[in-house]
Parts: sequence; structure tokens; C-alpha cells
Amino acid sequence: MGAAIEATGSPANSIGIVGGGQLAWMLAEAARRRGIELHVQTPGTDDPAAAIASSVVSADVRDVSGTRLLAERCSAISFENEWLDLDGLSALAGEGVHFVPSLEALRPLVCKRSQRELEQRLNLPCPRWFPLDQLTPIPSTGSSAVPASSVPSTAASASRIPSLPEGFGYPLMAKAATGGYDGKGTAVLHTDADVQELLARVDPSSWIVEEFVAFERELALVAARDVSGEVVCLPLVQTHQHQQVCDWVLAPVESNHALRQAARNIAASLLTSLNYVGVLSIEFFYGPKGLLINELAPRTHNSGHYSIEACTLSQFDLQLLCVSAQPLREPELQVPGALMVNLLGFDARSSSDPQADFAEQRQALSALPDAHLHWYGKTGPSLGRKLGHITLLLREGDPQRRRAEAMERLEQVRQIWPLPAEACNA
Ligand code: ADP
Repeated sequence: MGAAIEATGSPANSIGIVGGGQLAWMLAEAARRRGIELHVQTPGTDDPAAAIASSVVSADVRDVSGTRLLAERCSAISFENEWLDLDGLSALAGEGVHFVPSLEALRPLVCKRSQRELEQRLNLPCPRWFPLDQLTPIPSTGSSAVPASSVPSTAASASRIPSLPEGFGYPLMAKAATGGYDGKGTAVLHTDADVQELLARVDPSSWIVEEFVAFERELALVAARDVSGEVVCLPLVQTHQHQQVCDWVLAPVESNHALRQAARNIAASLLTSLNYVGVLSIEFFYGPKGLLINELAPRTHNSGHYSIEACTLSQFDLQLLCVSAQPLREPELQVPGALMVNLLGFDARSSSDPQADFAEQRQALSALPDAHLHWYGKTGPSLGRKLGHITLLLREGDPQRRRAEAMERLEQVRQIWPLPAEACNA
């Protein structure tokens, strides 16, 4: 099983990737299968991708001079995550460095606030939201926009917060506009006191607040657009989180044509309006109101890992095709379905531990039928981190029976690999 192999290894076809984690590692594996050279920029010589990349530029991922060095080795550069110094990189683009996606297309996507503004501009469904700085405490003195006469002068009033915008009530979900992942950088607000505590602790101009969505399921879609404007999508999947970290993914989710089409239309609107070339992942809430966009990720995504074994083209193949300016074709499932389970470090062992490589558990997982284990080889503490994932191919054709099959397979994984009691760093 696995993606079709097309040898495309010309020197002009060598790619640079900023980042060296598990996404870069799986991209490097896909590149190797296709005979494409892949160079990475990462500060960690122990990072998953460093061992199999054609070469490593040892520099922080936000170090623009490192990216300049990377550019000397390849014809195009892509990214593993969205924590970019876009202004710094613009200078390189001006010198002719080719980024895929382009920096212009990435700009609205690297921050949760500008994502929400984009979705509103395009009339796409998303939770109602407002910027946290709308709730900045009204200062009692100084350069307040509020007339001094309208502000009470007691000390307590200095931290008074304006009331919530019309139509909003608790609970609310607050999110850092940048730098958050796996639930880090989110806070559920239940009371005015929670708001006050958040305002005291963060820069309100870099946080947003959303309605708390009572979703039935979380879904995700990995889409891609090539240079000719063709948009393709992986199947729509369900994602299940444990303490805000992705725990498992079921592909495909049971869905009717209208739901699948709605998700594709959202992807196509985003990609086309941004003139975006590359892979874009969309996390959705699904409930009585239909689909709402939770988050956009301008890259490959944890919800698409199953595609390595289950689809005719994986999400990493799609990224490689986009970055090397080749045409895309629609990825198809080549099995009825798949379950991907993240292997989150379930205890506090660290790389100095003799059992840090979880050899016993890995062996048992690999022995499961129709199972494909991916072990990222991370060093350092393990608790709560994504250490690897396992994809189990599903054989039932009927969607309901396939879900039951998936839950049985999940139980088999759980017997070998328990969930962490408390999630920590990914
Ligand atoms: P991160 O970027 O850290 O992954 P997300 O915005 O994806 O953060 O949020 C993580 C999880 O928190 C989501 O998968 C979802 O389960 C929950 N969540 C996020 N936003 C909301 C919301 N507005 N309402 C309810 N739950 C939410």
C-alpha cells in the first residue's frame, strides 16, 4: 500500500523546508520515495527530520539568514508551521527566493485574529468573536479614551472591565492570536473574574475571544491547490481531542454529499481568494448550525497523517507536488477507511531513561494487524508529547460498522498505549 511513486529528482527539484519536526520528517520520507532532495532548517540536530534530510541548515526556524542559506540549496521553500517572520522573509522574496505558499497568501493565515477577519470578509461560517482588547480595563487616570468624568476614581475601579459585547455570554473561549498549539494559548472564561485574570496576564491586543461552540463533532479537511488553480481534497475526517490535543482521527467521517460539498466549497473559497498554492488544513466544528471553521493551518496537519497508507496520494505528496509546481489529482481512499491514533507520551520518562524508546509498546503496536506505526524518534521528556502515531486500516464498507470497527481497533491500541493522565508539551 502507499502513494504512487513518480521519480522527479532533478536538481531543479530540490525543496527546502523550514522546520524539522514530525511533519518535516514525513515530508522527507515522501520526498525520498519520489527521488526529491529535501533540505531542512532546524536548530535541533536531534529533530525527527534532521536524520533523513538531504542536508540541515542548523538555525532557528525564525532565523531569516538561515532561510537564506536554505534557499541556496533548493529551488523552492515551504514551511512546517505558521510561526513565521513574514516581514523578514519578504526581503528574501524580494531577492527572488520562491516560497510555496507565497508570503502574501500566508499573511492572513499566520494569526488567529486575521484568520477570523478573512473568514468574515469571505462570508465563511465561523464562531462569533471579538478582540480581547475590546475589554481592556478602563483606567482611572492617564490617556484613557474614556472621558475622565465618566470613570470612578476608586482603586477597585481601575480594573473594572466593560461589559461583554452584545449577544455574548459565558462561557467564552479566549485564544492567543499567535503561537498557540494543542490547546496551549487557549483559556475558557466562565466569569468576569476569569476575564480580569486573563487581562492581567496577557497582552489583550494579541488575543481574541469566541463564543463557546456546543459542537457535536470536530471535523477536518486537508485541501491543496496547484499552480493552475486546481483544488483537491483528502476525504473529510473526524478528529477527537483529549485535553485539547488530537487523540484520534477517523477517515472518512460518516457524511452526506451536502456536508462534504460544504466543506470543499469553504476550502476552495479560501484557497482561490488567496491565490494560494500548497496544502491548507481546516479544522471544523460540526453541530446544529452545520459547519463552523475553528482554525486554518497553512500546511500539512495531524488530521491527514492517515493518508500516507490509506490514500492514493498522501498530504505530503500533495505538498511536494505543489512545491515542485506539478499538477494535482484528486487523492482517493484505497481502503474503506482508516483510524489514526496519536501516541502521546503517557509517563514522565525522558531520553536518559533506558526505556525511553518504548520498545516494548512499539513492538506490540507493530504486531497489530493492518497497522502502520510511525515513531518520530524525539528526544527529551516524553509526557504528553506526540511521540508517534499509528494508522490502522479499516475493512468494513458500511459506515456504521466501520465506526464500530474503529472503536474496537482503538481499544486494542489503548491496551498497549494508554492515554496520558495529563497532557503536557507536544
Ligand atoms: P490550538 O491551536 O491550540 O490547537 P484550537 O483553537 O484548535 O487551539 O483549540 C483546541 C481545541 O479547543 C479544539 O480542538 C476544540 O476542542 C476546543 N475549542 C477551540 N475553540 C473552541 C470554541 N470556540 N468552542 C468550543 N471549543 C473550542
